[in-house]
Amino acid sequence: MIVGIDLGTTNSLVGVFKDGAPQLIRNAHGDFSTPSAVALDDQGQLIVGLAARERAATHPDMAAQAFKRFMGTDRRLRLGKREFRPEELSALVLQSLKADAEAFLGETVTEAVITVPAYFNDAQRRATRMAGQLAGLKVERLLNEPTAAGLAYGLQERQNNSTFLVFDLGGGTFDVSVLEYFEGVVEVRASAGDMRLGGEDFAQVMGQLFCDACPDITSATREQLSRSTHWWRAAELAKRELSDRESTRMQLVLDNRALSADITRDAFEKASAELLHRLRRPIERALHDAQLQPASLDEVVLVGGATRMPMIRQMITRLFQRLPLRTIDPDQAIAQGAAVQAGLKARDAALDEVVLTDVMPFSLGIIVSQEVNGTRIGDRFSPLIERNTPVPVSRSGVYSTVSDNQTFIKLDIRQGESPVGSENLKLGELEIAVPPAKAGQASVDVRFTYDANGLLDVDVRDLLGGNQANTLIRNTDTNMSDAQMAEAVAKLQGLKRHPRDDADNVYLLARAKRLYEDRLGAERQVIQDWMAQFSSALETQDPRVIRQARSAFKEALDSIDTSFRF
Ligand code: ADP
Ligand code: MG
Repeated sequence: MIVGIDLGTTNSLVGVFKDGAPQLIRNAHGDFSTPSAVALDDQGQLIVGLAARERAATHPDMAAQAFKRFMGTDRRLRLGKREFRPEELSALVLQSLKADAEAFLGETVTEAVITVPAYFNDAQRRATRMAGQLAGLKVERLLNEPTAAGLAYGLQERQNNSTFLVFDLGGGTFDVSVLEYFEGVVEVRASAGDMRLGGEDFAQVMGQLFCDACPDITSATREQLSRSTHWWRAAELAKRELSDRESTRMQLVLDNRALSADITRDAFEKASAELLHRLRRPIERALHDAQLQPASLDEVVLVGGATRMPMIRQMITRLFQRLPLRTIDPDQAIAQGAAVQAGLKARDAALDEVVLTDVMPFSLGIIVSQEVNGTRIGDRFSPLIERNTPVPVSRSGVYSTVSDNQTFIKLDIRQGESPVGSENLKLGELEIAVPPAKAGQASVDVRFTYDANGLLDVDVRDLLGGNQANTLIRNTDTNMSDAQMAEAVAKLQGLKRHPRDDADNVYLLARAKRLYEDRLGAERQVIQDWMAQFSSALETQDPRVIRQARSAFKEALDSIDTSFRF
């Protein structure tokens, strides 16, 4: 049985696809959500979940939370005298979910689909896979969180070109993604967010309001309060209460002194204005990247526990002029989607039709130097595959030598968004010999091919002499078998073609050419315009653009081509 797991910063959930539907599994406390927290108890034993979160309140130095933030880094987290890597802590959470699933299913669980934020880079994804492996799970696939939310809401059952905006406000992170469905494929078209903005910031605002409302509170007491976990917990509780009520009383005891204050939802919302404002930028960026207007979205989906706050719903309703979708419990949507994908992986007939693609969460390219107004500037990043491109993808570009009689070209392969090449993460190098020639006259064709498993195949061909070189950059920790790897690599080979050489596209252009030859005057002009439009779509090498342009081109040709009626 494959399980689907939402490995969250604050909370994690596990589910399965059973009897044709996703089903979440309760932990030993009877909750669907397990806090992503790990602690050492008084006996030095590791504890996970709710007990660990409780422990964090009383013994913060014995507990770790929010370690998802450090996935993919070398950072160690200290629990008492012991140190842990973030993936080890995540593995403990996964192990606990695995045990809950096994108790529920009555069988061992060895495989999982795990969700990750769309913006996770290679190192973060690798660390997540490693966490799965450490927990004894074969990670069948990493699924982007917004894609999972889209699946939970049945995006794949919508009409072609349906678009969803997924608004995910969790405990400490905020993510906005735009998804599009087209011909059996769900794509994440853009994602943006703020890694330092979430429900906790609203609790912080609540805590400050409380201090403001308490009479005669000194700045020293204020200082003391802000370090107290009791204050935090009381603020968190009050925040949640205000999601269902117009007003609440926040109270706590500090040094035998009882503090209490009434706080209204209205006051809380006013004090949160700045946080609400910060939510807007990423929304605008995601829409801009996806080239969509708010009105043209089909649905806006709310996920993440913090979207329970009415002010969030109101803001979204105002911004998008419609009610957001929220029929699934906002902190369960991603886990449900992961379970749907797990069902798909297990080849459950109910979901046979669904094919998923994800997008590149970062840009891939090489370092080049460029002539600008007669001066040569090095260390420039030249992306071949841009962020937010759907995968799998294959793109090529031509690069030339920079000095006379250069004997080789060395590709420095990087991932990242900085215009400065060396600031991006280095993935590898590839060298190719070129025939001696004047600067700029020897050139190479560089092709990057990337798939959802994180395999990057780099080909380089010298255009003068015909030399070739190739390197395969892969997740070193990937748990694909040699056979799976060979299959994935074989699939990549199929992508290495310029779209203008694809049979379908060649055929349509040939058909247009025939029609052109048959017609005269204004009609010729129209056909020529269509051909130019389609050719420029092909040059983008973007499958989504091409797919849509192809439909339009075909429809246009059908409308004037009478020959097939005979
Ligand atoms: P993550 O994706 O970070 O694991 P979740 O989606 O589980 O996080 O969301 C956790 C956040 O949701 C916390 O900040 C919590 O305070 C907030 N939250 C949960 N329930 C409510 C509620 N009823 N009202 C307001 N905030 C809530
Ligand atoms: Mg989440």
